[in-house]
Amino acid sequence: MRASKLFIHTLREIPSEAELISHRLMLRAGLIRQLAAGIFSWLPLGWRVVSKITDIVREEMNAAGAAEVMMPAVQPAEIWHESGRWQVYGPELLRLQDRHQRDYCIGPTHEEVVTSLVSASVTSWRQLPFNLYQIQTKFRDERRPRYGVMRSREFVMKDAYSFDGDAEGALLSYQQMRDAYIRIFDRIGLSYRIVAADSGAIGGNRSEEFLVLADNGEATIALTDAGYTANLDQIPCTREKPRRPKPGKQMETLATPGITTIEQLQNFLPKQLPAQRCIKTMIITGEAGIAAAILAGDASLSLAKASAQPEIGGGARFAEPDEAIKAIGANFGSLGPVNMPLPVIADYSVENAADFACGANREGEHLLNVNFGRDLPEPRFTDLRLARAGELAPDGNPLKLSQGIEVGHIFYLGTKYSQALQATFENEQQATLPIEMGCYGIGVTRIAAAAIEQNHDEAGIIFPAAIAPFTAVVLPLGTDPEVFATALKLYESLTKAGIDVLLDDRSLRAGTAFADLDLLGIPHRIVISTRNLTNKKIAYKARTSDKELLLELGNAHDELSALIRAN
Ligand code: ATP
Ligand code: MG
Repeated sequence: MRASKLFIHTLREIPSEAELISHRLMLRAGLIRQLAAGIFSWLPLGWRVVSKITDIVREEMNAAGAAEVMMPAVQPAEIWHESGRWQVYGPELLRLQDRHQRDYCIGPTHEEVVTSLVSASVTSWRQLPFNLYQIQTKFRDERRPRYGVMRSREFVMKDAYSFDGDAEGALLSYQQMRDAYIRIFDRIGLSYRIVAADSGAIGGNRSEEFLVLADNGEATIALTDAGYTANLDQIPCTREKPRRPKPGKQMETLATPGITTIEQLQNFLPKQLPAQRCIKTMIITGEAGIAAAILAGDASLSLAKASAQPEIGGGARFAEPDEAIKAIGANFGSLGPVNMPLPVIADYSVENAADFACGANREGEHLLNVNFGRDLPEPRFTDLRLARAGELAPDGNPLKLSQGIEVGHIFYLGTKYSQALQATFENEQQATLPIEMGCYGIGVTRIAAAAIEQNHDEAGIIFPAAIAPFTAVVLPLGTDPEVFATALKLYESLTKAGIDVLLDDRSLRAGTAFADLDLLGIPHRIVISTRNLTNKKIAYKARTSDKELLLELGNAHDELSALIRAN
Protein backbone atom coordinates (compact mmCIF):
# COMPACT_ATOMS: atom_id res chain seq x y z
CA MET A 1 0.00 0.00 0.00
CA ARG A 2 1.03 3.56 -0.61
CA ALA A 3 0.96 5.95 2.30
CA SER A 4 -0.42 8.76 0.12
CA LYS A 5 -3.66 6.78 -0.30
CA LEU A 6 -4.10 5.76 3.32
CA PHE A 7 -5.73 8.82 4.85
CA ILE A 8 -2.85 9.19 7.32
CA HIS A 9 -3.57 12.12 9.62
CA THR A 10 -1.08 12.19 12.44
CA LEU A 11 -1.26 14.98 15.01
CA ARG A 12 1.74 16.86 16.41
CA GLU A 13 -0.03 18.27 19.45
CA ILE A 14 -1.08 16.05 22.34
CA PRO A 15 -4.88 15.75 22.43
CA SER A 16 -5.93 17.25 25.73
CA GLU A 17 -9.08 15.14 26.20
CA ALA A 18 -7.13 11.88 26.51
CA GLU A 19 -5.73 10.86 29.89
CA LEU A 20 -4.37 7.46 29.02
CA ILE A 21 -1.19 7.09 26.97
CA SER A 22 -2.70 4.54 24.57
CA HIS A 23 -5.66 6.84 23.92
CA ARG A 24 -3.36 9.81 23.25
CA LEU A 25 -1.14 7.76 20.94
CA MET A 26 -4.09 6.30 19.01
CA LEU A 27 -5.45 9.81 18.41
CA ARG A 28 -2.03 11.25 17.53
CA ALA A 29 -1.21 8.37 15.18
CA GLY A 30 -4.59 8.83 13.51
CA LEU A 31 -5.75 5.28 14.22
CA ILE A 32 -9.11 6.43 15.60
CA ARG A 33 -11.24 9.56 15.73
CA GLN A 34 -14.05 10.18 18.21
CA LEU A 35 -17.53 10.82 16.83
CA ALA A 36 -19.40 11.05 20.16
CA ALA A 37 -18.60 10.01 23.74
CA GLY A 38 -17.37 6.41 23.59
CA ILE A 39 -18.09 6.13 19.86
CA PHE A 40 -15.16 6.04 17.44
CA SER A 41 -14.34 5.75 13.76
CA TRP A 42 -11.41 3.52 12.89
CA LEU A 43 -9.20 5.08 10.19
CA PRO A 44 -7.36 2.88 7.66
CA LEU A 45 -4.20 2.30 9.74
CA GLY A 46 -6.18 1.60 12.91
CA TRP A 47 -8.56 -0.72 11.10
CA ARG A 48 -5.60 -2.68 9.74
CA VAL A 49 -4.58 -3.31 13.37
CA VAL A 50 -8.11 -4.47 14.25
CA SER A 51 -8.18 -6.68 11.14
CA LYS A 52 -4.92 -8.35 12.09
CA ILE A 53 -6.28 -9.08 15.57
CA THR A 54 -9.51 -10.38 14.01
CA ASP A 55 -7.58 -12.65 11.63
CA ILE A 56 -5.69 -14.29 14.50
CA VAL A 57 -8.86 -14.68 16.56
CA ARG A 58 -10.74 -16.18 13.62
CA GLU A 59 -7.96 -18.63 12.73
CA GLU A 60 -7.69 -19.93 16.27
CA MET A 61 -11.45 -20.13 16.79
CA ASN A 62 -11.81 -22.11 13.56
CA ALA A 63 -8.88 -24.33 14.56
CA ALA A 64 -10.64 -25.02 17.86
CA GLY A 65 -13.69 -26.25 15.96
CA ALA A 66 -15.97 -23.24 16.46
CA ALA A 67 -18.18 -22.14 13.54
CA GLU A 68 -18.56 -18.50 12.60
CA VAL A 69 -22.01 -16.90 12.43
CA MET A 70 -23.28 -13.32 12.33
CA MET A 71 -26.18 -12.50 14.61
CA PRO A 72 -28.28 -9.31 14.57
CA ALA A 73 -27.06 -6.28 16.48
CA VAL A 74 -30.64 -5.17 17.15
CA GLN A 75 -32.46 -7.58 19.46
CA PRO A 76 -36.15 -7.74 20.41
CA ALA A 77 -37.02 -7.17 24.08
CA GLU A 78 -39.02 -10.45 24.32
CA ILE A 79 -35.95 -12.69 24.57
CA TRP A 80 -34.49 -10.37 27.22
CA HIS A 81 -37.73 -10.61 29.18
CA GLU A 82 -37.51 -14.41 28.92
CA SER A 83 -33.98 -14.46 30.36
CA GLY A 84 -34.98 -11.87 32.98
CA ARG A 85 -32.21 -9.50 31.92
CA TRP A 86 -34.40 -6.71 30.48
CA GLN A 87 -34.71 -5.43 34.09
CA VAL A 88 -31.43 -6.63 35.52
CA TYR A 89 -29.05 -5.34 32.88
CA GLY A 90 -29.78 -1.75 33.87
CA PRO A 91 -28.87 1.45 32.04
CA GLU A 92 -25.93 -0.13 30.19
CA LEU A 93 -28.52 -1.66 27.85
CA LEU A 94 -29.34 0.79 25.06
CA ARG A 95 -33.08 0.41 24.49
CA LEU A 96 -35.04 1.68 21.51
CA GLN A 97 -38.45 1.36 19.88
CA ASP A 98 -39.46 0.77 16.29
CA ARG A 99 -42.28 2.55 14.44
CA HIS A 100 -44.80 0.18 16.09
CA GLN A 101 -43.55 1.09 19.58
CA ARG A 102 -42.06 -2.37 20.01
CA ASP A 103 -39.06 -2.53 22.35
CA TYR A 104 -35.58 -3.49 21.20
CA CYS A 105 -32.05 -3.18 22.44
CA ILE A 106 -28.70 -2.93 20.71
CA GLY A 107 -26.90 -6.09 21.75
CA PRO A 108 -24.34 -5.67 24.54
CA THR A 109 -23.85 -9.46 24.34
CA HIS A 110 -25.69 -12.31 22.60
CA GLU A 111 -26.64 -15.11 25.04
CA GLU A 112 -30.35 -14.51 24.45
CA VAL A 113 -30.08 -14.46 20.64
CA VAL A 114 -27.83 -17.49 20.34
CA THR A 115 -29.85 -19.53 22.84
CA SER A 116 -33.14 -18.83 21.08
CA LEU A 117 -31.49 -19.68 17.75
CA VAL A 118 -30.29 -23.01 19.14
CA SER A 119 -33.56 -23.68 20.91
CA ALA A 120 -35.43 -23.52 17.60
CA SER A 121 -33.01 -25.91 15.86
CA VAL A 122 -31.62 -28.50 18.27
CA THR A 123 -33.71 -31.46 19.37
CA SER A 124 -31.38 -34.41 19.86
CA TRP A 125 -28.10 -35.33 21.59
CA ARG A 126 -26.84 -36.26 18.11
CA GLN A 127 -26.66 -32.54 17.22
CA LEU A 128 -24.37 -31.75 20.17
CA PRO A 129 -21.77 -30.50 20.98
CA PHE A 130 -20.99 -27.40 18.91
CA ASN A 131 -19.67 -23.90 19.33
CA LEU A 132 -20.90 -20.79 17.49
CA TYR A 133 -18.98 -17.54 17.39
CA GLN A 134 -19.16 -14.13 15.77
CA ILE A 135 -16.99 -11.04 15.51
CA GLN A 136 -19.34 -8.13 15.81
CA THR A 137 -20.08 -4.65 17.05
CA LYS A 138 -21.56 -4.44 20.55
CA PHE A 139 -23.08 -1.45 22.29
CA ARG A 140 -22.96 -0.85 26.05
CA ASP A 141 -24.06 2.48 27.41
CA GLU A 142 -21.15 2.52 29.87
CA ARG A 143 -21.53 4.77 32.92
CA ARG A 144 -18.10 6.23 32.24
CA PRO A 145 -16.90 5.69 28.69
CA ARG A 146 -13.21 6.62 28.76
CA TYR A 147 -9.71 5.77 27.69
CA GLY A 148 -10.71 5.77 24.03
CA VAL A 149 -11.51 2.34 22.66
CA MET A 150 -10.41 0.73 25.93
CA ARG A 151 -13.79 1.45 27.50
CA SER A 152 -15.97 2.68 24.70
CA ARG A 153 -19.71 2.37 24.24
CA GLU A 154 -19.51 0.86 20.77
CA PHE A 155 -16.80 -1.78 20.35
CA VAL A 156 -15.96 -4.98 18.50
CA MET A 157 -16.14 -8.22 20.43
CA LYS A 158 -15.58 -11.83 19.50
CA ASP A 159 -18.22 -13.80 21.33
CA ALA A 160 -18.48 -17.58 21.25
CA TYR A 161 -21.09 -19.88 22.80
CA SER A 162 -20.66 -23.61 23.39
CA PHE A 163 -23.52 -26.12 23.60
CA ASP A 164 -23.03 -29.53 25.20
CA GLY A 165 -25.18 -32.39 26.46
CA ASP A 166 -23.71 -32.51 29.95
CA ALA A 167 -21.56 -30.55 32.39
CA GLU A 168 -18.54 -32.72 31.69
CA GLY A 169 -18.72 -31.92 27.99
CA ALA A 170 -19.28 -28.23 28.73
CA LEU A 171 -16.13 -28.13 30.84
CA LEU A 172 -14.20 -29.76 28.02
CA SER A 173 -15.51 -27.07 25.65
CA TYR A 174 -14.45 -24.47 28.22
CA GLN A 175 -10.96 -25.97 28.29
CA GLN A 176 -10.74 -25.92 24.48
CA MET A 177 -11.64 -22.22 24.46
CA ARG A 178 -9.12 -21.57 27.23
CA ASP A 179 -6.40 -23.23 25.13
CA ALA A 180 -7.47 -21.26 22.04
CA TYR A 181 -7.31 -18.01 24.02
CA ILE A 182 -3.78 -18.82 25.16
CA ARG A 183 -2.76 -19.33 21.53
CA ILE A 184 -4.49 -16.09 20.49
CA PHE A 185 -2.87 -13.88 23.12
CA ASP A 186 0.54 -15.54 22.63
CA ARG A 187 0.34 -14.96 18.88
CA ILE A 188 -0.68 -11.33 19.31
CA GLY A 189 2.39 -10.93 21.51
CA LEU A 190 0.86 -9.63 24.71
CA SER A 191 2.12 -10.18 28.22
CA TYR A 192 -0.91 -11.37 30.22
CA ARG A 193 -2.20 -13.39 33.15
CA ILE A 194 -5.17 -15.73 33.46
CA VAL A 195 -7.04 -15.12 36.69
CA ALA A 196 -10.04 -16.68 38.40
CA ALA A 197 -12.90 -14.24 38.06
CA ASP A 198 -16.37 -13.41 39.14
CA SER A 199 -18.98 -14.20 36.54
CA GLY A 200 -20.64 -10.76 36.64
CA ALA A 201 -24.02 -10.18 35.01
CA ILE A 202 -23.77 -13.37 33.01
CA GLY A 203 -23.99 -15.90 35.84
CA GLY A 204 -22.62 -19.43 36.07
CA ASN A 205 -19.92 -20.85 38.23
CA ARG A 206 -16.61 -21.18 36.48
CA SER A 207 -15.00 -18.18 34.93
CA GLU A 208 -11.55 -16.83 34.17
CA GLU A 209 -10.29 -13.54 32.80
CA PHE A 210 -7.34 -12.85 30.54
CA LEU A 211 -5.67 -9.66 31.75
CA VAL A 212 -2.97 -7.74 29.92
CA LEU A 213 -0.49 -6.39 32.45
CA ALA A 214 -0.46 -2.58 32.33
CA ASP A 215 0.00 0.04 35.06
CA ASN A 216 -3.10 1.91 33.97
CA GLY A 217 -5.36 -1.12 33.71
CA GLU A 218 -8.76 -0.82 35.41
CA ALA A 219 -8.73 -4.39 36.72
CA THR A 220 -6.71 -5.31 39.80
CA ILE A 221 -4.88 -8.61 39.87
CA ALA A 222 -3.95 -10.07 43.23
CA LEU A 223 -0.76 -12.14 43.24
CA THR A 224 1.59 -13.69 45.75
CA ASP A 225 5.26 -14.61 45.47
CA ALA A 226 4.21 -18.26 45.67
CA GLY A 227 2.37 -17.99 42.34
CA TYR A 228 -1.22 -17.48 43.47
CA THR A 229 -3.23 -15.25 41.08
CA ALA A 230 -6.85 -14.12 41.17
CA ASN A 231 -8.97 -11.15 40.43
CA LEU A 232 -8.83 -8.95 43.52
CA ASP A 233 -12.62 -9.24 43.71
CA GLN A 234 -12.21 -12.91 44.62
CA ILE A 235 -9.89 -12.66 47.63
CA PRO A 236 -11.72 -13.45 50.89
CA CYS A 237 -11.11 -10.98 53.73
CA THR A 238 -10.81 -12.21 57.29
CA ARG A 239 -13.18 -11.30 60.08
CA GLU A 240 -11.71 -9.51 63.10
CA LYS A 241 -12.20 -10.84 66.64
CA PRO A 242 -15.28 -9.30 68.28
CA ARG A 243 -14.28 -6.31 70.42
CA ARG A 244 -17.03 -3.78 69.88
CA PRO A 245 -17.09 -1.08 72.61
CA LYS A 246 -20.33 -0.29 74.49
CA PRO A 247 -22.42 2.56 73.05
CA GLY A 248 -21.48 5.97 74.50
CA LYS A 249 -23.47 9.16 73.91
CA GLN A 250 -26.96 9.45 72.42
CA MET A 251 -27.37 9.53 68.68
CA GLU A 252 -27.52 13.09 67.30
CA THR A 253 -28.09 14.78 63.95
CA LEU A 254 -25.45 17.08 62.49
CA ALA A 255 -26.11 19.54 59.67
CA THR A 256 -23.50 18.80 57.00
CA PRO A 257 -24.33 21.03 54.03
CA GLY A 258 -22.36 20.11 50.92
CA ILE A 259 -20.62 17.14 52.60
CA THR A 260 -20.91 14.12 50.32
CA THR A 261 -17.72 12.10 50.77
CA ILE A 262 -16.21 10.27 53.73
CA GLU A 263 -13.08 12.39 53.44
CA GLN A 264 -15.08 15.61 53.61
CA LEU A 265 -17.02 14.22 56.55
CA GLN A 266 -13.82 13.26 58.41
CA ASN A 267 -12.47 16.80 57.94
CA PHE A 268 -15.78 18.38 58.91
CA LEU A 269 -16.39 16.48 62.14
CA PRO A 270 -15.45 18.35 65.33
CA LYS A 271 -13.49 15.32 66.55
CA GLN A 272 -11.42 13.19 64.15
CA LEU A 273 -13.01 9.74 63.73
CA PRO A 274 -11.13 6.75 62.30
CA ALA A 275 -12.44 5.44 58.97
CA GLN A 276 -13.94 2.41 60.67
CA ARG A 277 -16.29 4.76 62.52
CA CYS A 278 -17.20 6.83 59.45
CA ILE A 279 -19.51 4.40 57.74
CA LYS A 280 -20.00 4.39 54.01
CA THR A 281 -23.34 3.28 52.53
CA MET A 282 -23.57 2.03 48.95
CA ILE A 283 -26.72 1.03 47.12
CA ILE A 284 -26.26 -2.13 45.08
CA THR A 285 -28.70 -3.77 42.73
CA GLY A 286 -28.66 -7.25 41.21
CA GLU A 287 -30.82 -10.07 39.88
CA ALA A 288 -32.48 -10.69 43.27
CA GLY A 289 -33.05 -7.12 44.40
CA ILE A 290 -31.64 -3.87 45.71
CA ALA A 291 -29.87 -3.46 49.07
CA ALA A 292 -27.71 -1.08 51.09
CA ALA A 293 -24.15 -2.26 51.78
CA ILE A 294 -22.28 -0.59 54.64
CA LEU A 295 -18.50 -0.60 55.00
CA ALA A 296 -15.69 1.21 56.81
CA GLY A 297 -15.09 4.60 55.21
CA ASP A 298 -11.73 3.56 53.75
CA ALA A 299 -12.87 0.15 52.43
CA SER A 300 -13.92 -0.53 48.83
CA LEU A 301 -16.84 -2.75 47.90
CA SER A 302 -16.35 -5.91 45.84
CA LEU A 303 -19.19 -6.28 43.36
CA ALA A 304 -18.40 -9.98 43.11
CA LYS A 305 -18.96 -10.39 46.84
CA ALA A 306 -22.13 -8.27 46.60
CA SER A 307 -23.37 -10.62 43.85
CA ALA A 308 -23.04 -13.53 46.28
CA GLN A 309 -25.53 -11.95 48.72
CA PRO A 310 -29.06 -13.41 48.52
CA GLU A 311 -30.60 -9.92 48.90
CA ILE A 312 -28.71 -8.69 45.79
CA GLY A 313 -28.03 -11.67 43.55
CA GLY A 314 -25.91 -12.08 40.41
CA GLY A 315 -24.79 -9.24 38.20
CA ALA A 316 -24.48 -6.76 41.06
CA ARG A 317 -23.85 -3.16 40.06
CA PHE A 318 -23.85 0.21 41.78
CA ALA A 319 -27.32 1.75 41.61
CA GLU A 320 -27.78 4.94 39.61
CA PRO A 321 -28.63 8.13 41.56
CA ASP A 322 -32.28 8.04 40.42
CA GLU A 323 -32.63 4.43 41.61
CA ALA A 324 -31.34 5.44 45.07
CA ILE A 325 -33.66 8.45 45.24
CA LYS A 326 -36.60 6.29 44.20
CA ALA A 327 -35.86 3.63 46.82
CA ILE A 328 -34.74 5.83 49.71
CA GLY A 329 -35.78 9.39 48.97
CA ALA A 330 -32.22 10.66 49.49
CA ASN A 331 -29.25 11.06 47.19
CA PHE A 332 -25.77 9.53 47.39
CA GLY A 333 -23.58 11.37 49.84
CA SER A 334 -26.08 11.44 52.69
CA LEU A 335 -27.12 7.79 52.92
CA GLY A 336 -26.93 5.67 56.05
CA PRO A 337 -28.27 2.44 57.59
CA VAL A 338 -30.60 4.11 60.16
CA ASN A 339 -34.23 3.95 58.97
CA MET A 340 -33.01 2.49 55.72
CA PRO A 341 -36.01 1.15 53.77
CA LEU A 342 -33.77 -1.35 51.90
CA PRO A 343 -32.18 -4.48 53.43
CA VAL A 344 -28.87 -3.53 55.09
CA ILE A 345 -25.87 -5.84 54.65
CA ALA A 346 -22.77 -4.95 56.69
CA ASP A 347 -19.16 -5.68 55.92
CA TYR A 348 -16.93 -7.23 58.61
CA SER A 349 -14.94 -3.96 58.60
CA VAL A 350 -17.70 -2.25 60.62
CA GLU A 351 -18.55 -5.14 62.93
CA ASN A 352 -16.58 -3.61 65.80
CA ALA A 353 -17.78 -0.04 65.18
CA ALA A 354 -19.53 1.85 67.99
CA ASP A 355 -20.52 5.53 68.20
CA PHE A 356 -20.08 5.85 64.48
CA ALA A 357 -21.04 8.53 61.97
CA CYS A 358 -23.13 7.92 58.83
CA GLY A 359 -25.52 9.67 56.47
CA ALA A 360 -29.03 10.47 57.77
CA ASN A 361 -30.91 9.61 54.54
CA ARG A 362 -31.73 13.33 54.39
CA GLU A 363 -29.82 15.68 52.11
CA GLY A 364 -27.18 17.70 54.01
CA GLU A 365 -27.45 15.77 57.27
CA HIS A 366 -25.40 13.09 58.99
CA LEU A 367 -25.88 11.16 62.22
CA LEU A 368 -23.31 10.90 65.02
CA ASN A 369 -22.87 8.37 67.87
CA VAL A 370 -24.82 5.72 66.02
CA ASN A 371 -24.77 2.18 67.46
CA PHE A 372 -25.84 -1.18 66.07
CA GLY A 373 -28.54 -2.87 68.14
CA ARG A 374 -29.54 0.45 69.73
CA ASP A 375 -30.23 2.97 66.93
CA LEU A 376 -30.76 0.42 64.21
CA PRO A 377 -31.25 -3.36 64.16
CA GLU A 378 -28.09 -5.46 64.31
CA PRO A 379 -27.38 -6.10 60.58
CA ARG A 380 -26.05 -9.28 59.03
CA PHE A 381 -22.24 -9.06 58.85
CA THR A 382 -20.40 -10.65 55.96
CA ASP A 383 -17.39 -10.24 53.68
CA LEU A 384 -18.10 -7.46 51.18
CA ARG A 385 -14.88 -5.51 50.76
CA LEU A 386 -11.85 -5.72 48.50
CA ALA A 387 -8.67 -7.03 50.11
CA ARG A 388 -5.69 -4.68 50.35
CA ALA A 389 -2.02 -5.19 49.47
CA GLY A 390 -0.18 -6.91 52.32
CA GLU A 391 -3.20 -8.83 53.60
CA LEU A 392 -2.90 -12.60 53.44
CA ALA A 393 -4.04 -14.42 50.30
CA PRO A 394 -5.76 -17.83 50.53
CA ASP A 395 -2.31 -19.43 50.04
CA GLY A 396 -1.13 -17.76 53.26
CA ASN A 397 1.26 -15.30 51.59
CA PRO A 398 1.01 -11.50 51.53
CA LEU A 399 -0.91 -10.08 48.59
CA LYS A 400 0.66 -7.90 45.96
CA LEU A 401 -1.53 -5.94 43.62
CA SER A 402 -0.93 -5.32 39.99
CA GLN A 403 -3.07 -3.61 37.36
CA GLY A 404 -4.40 -5.25 34.23
CA ILE A 405 -6.69 -4.72 31.26
CA GLU A 406 -9.34 -7.38 30.75
CA VAL A 407 -9.09 -8.52 27.13
CA GLY A 408 -10.85 -11.86 27.37
CA HIS A 409 -13.32 -13.62 29.59
CA ILE A 410 -14.46 -17.26 29.57
CA PHE A 411 -17.48 -18.59 31.45
CA TYR A 412 -19.04 -21.93 32.11
CA LEU A 413 -22.73 -20.94 32.17
CA GLY A 414 -24.50 -24.19 33.00
CA THR A 415 -28.18 -24.18 32.04
CA LYS A 416 -29.19 -20.67 33.10
CA TYR A 417 -30.03 -19.47 29.57
CA SER A 418 -31.06 -22.82 28.11
CA GLN A 419 -33.64 -23.21 30.87
CA ALA A 420 -34.95 -19.65 30.53
CA LEU A 421 -35.20 -19.87 26.73
CA GLN A 422 -36.17 -23.57 26.48
CA ALA A 423 -33.07 -24.77 24.65
CA THR A 424 -33.51 -28.45 25.39
CA PHE A 425 -32.55 -31.73 23.74
CA GLU A 426 -33.46 -35.36 24.07
CA ASN A 427 -30.64 -37.55 25.40
CA GLU A 428 -29.92 -41.20 24.44
CA GLN A 429 -32.46 -42.34 27.04
CA GLN A 430 -35.17 -40.05 25.57
CA ALA A 431 -35.09 -37.72 28.57
CA THR A 432 -35.53 -34.01 27.80
CA LEU A 433 -32.71 -31.92 29.31
CA PRO A 434 -31.55 -28.29 29.07
CA ILE A 435 -28.36 -27.79 27.04
CA GLU A 436 -25.16 -27.05 29.00
CA MET A 437 -23.64 -23.77 27.82
CA GLY A 438 -20.45 -21.74 27.98
CA CYS A 439 -19.71 -18.25 26.66
CA TYR A 440 -16.39 -16.75 25.70
CA GLY A 441 -15.62 -13.10 24.91
CA ILE A 442 -12.62 -11.28 23.50
CA GLY A 443 -12.46 -7.48 23.37
CA VAL A 444 -11.07 -7.16 19.85
CA THR A 445 -10.89 -3.36 19.73
CA ARG A 446 -9.79 -3.13 23.36
CA ILE A 447 -6.80 -5.35 22.49
CA ALA A 448 -5.49 -2.69 20.09
CA ALA A 449 -5.45 -0.16 22.94
CA ALA A 450 -4.08 -2.67 25.46
CA ALA A 451 -1.21 -3.60 23.13
CA ILE A 452 -0.26 0.08 22.86
CA GLU A 453 -0.61 0.63 26.61
CA GLN A 454 1.88 -2.19 27.07
CA ASN A 455 4.25 -1.29 24.20
CA HIS A 456 5.25 2.33 23.63
CA ASP A 457 8.05 4.83 24.28
CA GLU A 458 8.43 8.65 24.16
CA ALA A 459 8.42 8.57 20.35
CA GLY A 460 5.17 6.63 20.04
CA ILE A 461 3.69 3.19 19.56
CA ILE A 462 5.81 0.02 19.34
CA PHE A 463 3.38 -2.47 17.82
CA PRO A 464 3.90 -6.20 18.37
CA ALA A 465 4.77 -7.33 14.80
CA ALA A 466 1.70 -9.58 14.54
CA ILE A 467 -0.76 -6.70 14.80
CA ALA A 468 1.22 -3.72 13.41
CA PRO A 469 -0.69 -1.88 10.64
CA PHE A 470 2.27 -2.74 8.41
CA THR A 471 5.23 -4.98 9.18
CA ALA A 472 7.72 -2.77 7.36
CA VAL A 473 7.89 0.62 5.67
CA VAL A 474 10.06 1.68 2.73
CA LEU A 475 10.76 5.40 2.77
CA PRO A 476 12.36 7.20 -0.21
CA LEU A 477 13.84 10.59 0.78
CA GLY A 478 14.06 13.62 -1.50
CA THR A 479 13.05 14.01 -5.13
CA ASP A 480 15.71 11.91 -6.88
CA PRO A 481 13.86 9.60 -9.36
CA GLU A 482 16.50 6.89 -8.88
CA VAL A 483 15.81 6.88 -5.13
CA PHE A 484 12.11 6.45 -5.77
CA ALA A 485 12.68 3.73 -8.37
CA THR A 486 14.90 1.79 -5.93
CA ALA A 487 12.34 2.18 -3.16
CA LEU A 488 9.55 1.01 -5.42
CA LYS A 489 11.54 -2.05 -6.51
CA LEU A 490 12.33 -3.03 -2.94
CA TYR A 491 8.73 -2.43 -1.88
CA GLU A 492 7.49 -4.64 -4.69
CA SER A 493 9.95 -7.46 -4.08
CA LEU A 494 9.29 -7.53 -0.33
CA THR A 495 5.53 -7.44 -0.94
CA LYS A 496 5.90 -10.32 -3.37
CA ALA A 497 7.76 -12.23 -0.65
CA GLY A 498 4.61 -12.01 1.49
CA ILE A 499 5.72 -9.17 3.77
CA ASP A 500 3.15 -6.52 4.59
CA VAL A 501 5.01 -3.39 3.42
CA LEU A 502 4.02 0.27 3.30
CA LEU A 503 5.60 2.55 0.70
CA ASP A 504 5.84 5.98 2.28
CA ASP A 505 5.42 8.10 -0.85
CA ARG A 506 4.20 11.22 0.98
CA SER A 507 7.39 13.22 0.14
CA LEU A 508 7.77 14.40 3.74
CA ARG A 509 11.00 15.91 5.07
CA ALA A 510 13.24 13.27 6.66
CA GLY A 511 12.68 14.46 10.25
CA THR A 512 8.92 14.65 9.85
CA ALA A 513 8.72 11.24 8.17
CA PHE A 514 10.88 9.60 10.87
CA ALA A 515 8.79 11.11 13.67
CA ASP A 516 5.59 9.97 11.97
CA LEU A 517 6.81 6.41 11.41
CA ASP A 518 8.07 6.15 15.00
CA LEU A 519 4.69 7.39 16.22
CA LEU A 520 2.91 4.77 14.07
CA GLY A 521 5.05 2.01 15.54
CA ILE A 522 5.79 0.10 12.33
CA PRO A 523 8.39 -2.51 13.38
CA HIS A 524 10.87 -2.21 10.45
CA ARG A 525 11.97 0.95 8.62
CA ILE A 526 13.94 0.97 5.34
CA VAL A 527 15.22 4.34 4.13
CA ILE A 528 16.52 5.04 0.64
CA SER A 529 18.48 8.29 0.19
CA THR A 530 20.65 9.76 -2.57
CA ARG A 531 23.72 9.80 -0.32
CA ASN A 532 23.51 6.10 0.62
CA LEU A 533 22.53 5.09 -2.88
CA THR A 534 25.74 6.59 -4.33
CA ASN A 535 27.57 4.07 -2.12
CA LYS A 536 25.12 1.32 -3.18
CA LYS A 537 23.66 1.15 0.33
CA ILE A 538 20.29 1.46 1.99
CA ALA A 539 19.49 2.10 5.69
CA TYR A 540 17.52 -0.21 7.98
CA LYS A 541 16.29 0.42 11.51
CA ALA A 542 14.08 -1.63 13.81
CA ARG A 543 11.50 0.40 15.79
CA THR A 544 12.89 -1.10 18.99
CA SER A 545 16.52 -0.13 18.28
CA ASP A 546 18.38 3.18 18.07
CA LYS A 547 20.95 1.80 15.67
CA GLU A 548 20.61 2.24 11.93
CA LEU A 549 22.27 -0.49 9.82
CA LEU A 550 23.63 0.13 6.35
CA LEU A 551 22.96 -2.80 4.02
CA GLU A 552 24.44 -3.50 0.58
CA LEU A 553 21.83 -2.70 -2.04
CA GLY A 554 22.68 -5.94 -3.87
CA ASN A 555 21.74 -8.14 -0.85
CA ALA A 556 19.09 -5.81 0.55
CA HIS A 557 16.09 -7.93 -0.33
CA ASP A 558 17.48 -11.12 1.23
CA GLU A 559 18.93 -9.42 4.29
CA LEU A 560 15.74 -7.47 4.94
CA SER A 561 13.54 -10.53 4.52
CA ALA A 562 15.68 -12.32 7.09
CA LEU A 563 15.68 -9.38 9.54
CA ILE A 564 11.92 -8.93 9.25
CA ARG A 565 11.13 -12.63 9.57
CA ALA A 566 13.36 -12.94 12.65
CA ASN A 567 11.10 -10.52 14.55
P1 ATP B 1 -15.37 -4.84 32.08
O1 ATP B 1 -15.25 -5.46 33.44
O2 ATP B 1 -14.08 -4.28 31.56
O3 ATP B 1 -16.53 -3.90 31.95
P2 ATP B 1 -16.99 -6.99 31.20
O4 ATP B 1 -16.80 -8.00 32.26
O5 ATP B 1 -18.19 -6.13 31.19
O6 ATP B 1 -15.69 -6.05 31.11
P3 ATP B 1 -17.53 -9.03 29.21
O7 ATP B 1 -18.99 -8.88 29.33
O8 ATP B 1 -16.88 -10.23 29.75
O9 ATP B 1 -16.83 -7.70 29.79
O10 ATP B 1 -17.13 -8.79 27.68
C1 ATP B 1 -16.11 -9.52 27.01
C2 ATP B 1 -14.94 -8.64 26.61
O11 ATP B 1 -15.37 -7.47 25.91
C3 ATP B 1 -14.19 -8.08 27.81
O12 ATP B 1 -13.24 -9.03 28.26
C4 ATP B 1 -13.52 -6.86 27.22
O13 ATP B 1 -12.29 -7.21 26.63
C5 ATP B 1 -14.48 -6.40 26.17
N1 ATP B 1 -15.24 -5.21 26.63
C6 ATP B 1 -16.22 -5.18 27.57
N2 ATP B 1 -16.69 -3.93 27.73
C7 ATP B 1 -15.99 -3.14 26.86
C8 ATP B 1 -16.01 -1.75 26.54
N3 ATP B 1 -16.85 -0.93 27.15
N4 ATP B 1 -15.16 -1.29 25.59
C9 ATP B 1 -14.31 -2.12 24.96
N5 ATP B 1 -14.24 -3.45 25.22
C10 ATP B 1 -15.06 -3.96 26.15
MG1 MG C 1 -18.56 -4.18 31.76
